Formats: sequence, structure tokens, C-alpha cells
Amino acid sequence: MNAPNTLTQLAKASLVDVCGRAVKSLRISVTDRCNLRCTYCLPAGSAGFNQSEDLLSFDDIVRVVRVACRLGVDHVRLTGGEPLVRAGLPELVARLKTETPVREVALTTNGVLLERNVPALASAKLDRLTVSVDSLQPDRFRAITCLGSIDDVWRGVRAAAEAGLHPLKINVLVLRGVNDDEIDAWVELTRDHDLAIRFLELMPVGEGGSAELARRYVDLTEVRRRLERDFGLTPIETRMGNGPARYWKVPRALGVVGFITPISDAYCDKCSRFRLTATGDLRPCLAHELSVPLREAIRAGDDEAIEAGFRQAGALKPAGHAWRQGGLTQIRMSSIGG
Ligand code: SAM
Repeated sequence: MNAPNTLTQLAKASLVDVCGRAVKSLRISVTDRCNLRCTYCLPAGSAGFNQSEDLLSFDDIVRVVRVACRLGVDHVRLTGGEPLVRAGLPELVARLKTETPVREVALTTNGVLLERNVPALASAKLDRLTVSVDSLQPDRFRAITCLGSIDDVWRGVRAAAEAGLHPLKINVLVLRGVNDDEIDAWVELTRDHDLAIRFLELMPVGEGGSAELARRYVDLTEVRRRLERDFGLTPIETRMGNGPARYWKVPRALGVVGFITPISDAYCDKCSRFRLTATGDLRPCLAHELSVPLREAIRAGDDEAIEAGFRQAGALKPAGHAWRQGGLTQIRMSSIGG
């Protein structure tokens, strides 16, 4: 296909969903497996993982991203499961950066395997890195993740900072009675560390929808208002990737504080994101169990059919979620690519 050379052709080529939102971002799960067993995501004893022959290969992923870029996607985030348990992940980053026109490639990881992967990720020219760390306390971190050592994660974060992977974002999923007493300590950390600490609200997705977890939900819009009073947190204008976080700052701090509030302050009207599961299902919305299977078209090398699948997903993308009305999403976060 020739590059579009008029505005009309451009408008035709780019993907705008049924609600008029342009699709700019693709979140790709490279595996549904994980080396941690976080209680709210993939608890100990979880079974029923994909077989490796069912996963999209790196060639497959590069092909989809090329087609997605033709449709206006300019940002890709690799996730999972835990993306770094997929062998050779930095090679995929390098291929996306050199073999597709995508503007930004980002990675979300639990950080356990980060330190050893930092040199290859840096030389692959990874644009953005997010590390999920739900507690500053070693014992608590272990209790939440079942298997993780926080020392491994901090070594990875330090190595990433030293390698110049910037901005460095830390995701903290806040749970009542589990880690909500650490919010102030995280905010304090931004005073002299150039980190973006982002607090996430629990979504009723997969395990997160269980009755036990539902009562651990924390309204982060309320938390933000309290932090504005207690720390003088003020909103800042910043673009950090393509995500839904909005950012605030303690006066004179080196770092920033972000809030991801899908429930208390939803941003569905601005959602520019699709998700691709590790087995090639394209999901236009995290909250709804709608998907368009693309694996056959990808493996057949049929770019027109892949493009048609994206357009079909655009036609299916709902206006928003029904979580505030008690809606649940019955699929594991680790398979959708959280
Ligand atoms: N393994 C990687 C990691 O730990 O970042 C990537 C996958 S993990 C599913 C991505 C993010 O989803 C993590 O920050 C995790 O805290 C978040 N997450 C998982 N389940 C969630 C839920 N029910 N609600 C909100 N966030 C969730």
C-alpha cells in the first residue's frame, strides 16, 4: 500500500472507532505466564496457561504492528503475564524499533528479571519502562507476590536508571488494608528520586472482581485530594507515553505522582487503546469480553484481513465500562495484557 498523500487518504487509512476515538496505542501480551503470583492478578494455584505453539511468534507480532501503524497506531506496549519470561524479549523490542514505523515501544514488567535484561533493552532502544512494585516493604512485597524478592526488583530499577532508561515509571496497585498505608512513603520518595510513581485503582477484572478483593478497592481520586492538602501536590502538564495516568507533583520534587483512576474518574471517552492477547485475539476494550481473532490472518500473512480485523474491533469498541454499576470482567488480566 502506498503512503497516503492527501488528507482524505490519511483520514480513510487511520482507524477511528465507532465513538469517534482514534486508535493510537496497542498493548501486546507476549505471554500469559508470569513468574509472580500476585494475589489480585494470578494467585498461587492458577492453571490453564497457553501452549507455546499457540503464541504469536515475534514475526507475527512485527507483522501486526506494521499493519497497526498503517492504521494510525504509533505506540506499542509489551506486557503479559510477565513479558521478560518470554525468551529473547529484547530482540522483539529491537525488531519493532527497526522493522516497523512505530514511534514508541514501551514495556511493563514486574522487574524480577529486569537487571539482566537492561543492557539488551537499552541497546534495543526501548523508549519507556514501567515496573510494577506494590510495596516498599520486603515482607509485604513477598506476601502480595507470593514469589518475589523486592531486592531483585530494585536492582533492576537501578540498572535501568543507570542505563538511561527514562522516564522510569513505578505502578503501585493500592489495596485497602494491604498497602494503602504506604501511599505517603511513595510520595515522599518522589522528593529526591526522578521517578513517576503511579497509583492504580483495582479493576474488577479476573481475580480483581472477587468479593474479597472488591472490598479492598480504594478510591484514588479521594486519596489524591488528601495528598493535595497534605503534600501540596499540584497538577502538571506532561505527556508520558500514551496511557491514562494524570500527573501531580510535590513542590520542588524530582519525581512526579500519577493516578490511574478507571473507576473513580473514568477516562473511557479518551481511550485510544486496543489490546492483543498472546494468542492473537484483538480486544478493543479491557472491560468487555469482546475480541476479534487475528491469529489465522496473521499466520497466513494476510495483511488485508488483519486490517479488516482492526476495523471490526473499532466498530465493536464500547463507549465505556459498567464497573461502577457492579459489572465484572471475567478474564484474567494476565491473558488480556494488563
Ligand atoms: N507482569 C507485568 C507487571 O507486573 O507489570 C505486566 C502485566 S501486569 C498484569 C500489569 C499491571 O496490571 C500491573 O501493574 C498490575 O498491578 C496490574 N493489574 C493486575 N490486575 C489488576 C486489576 N485487577 N486491577 C488493576 N490493575 C491490575
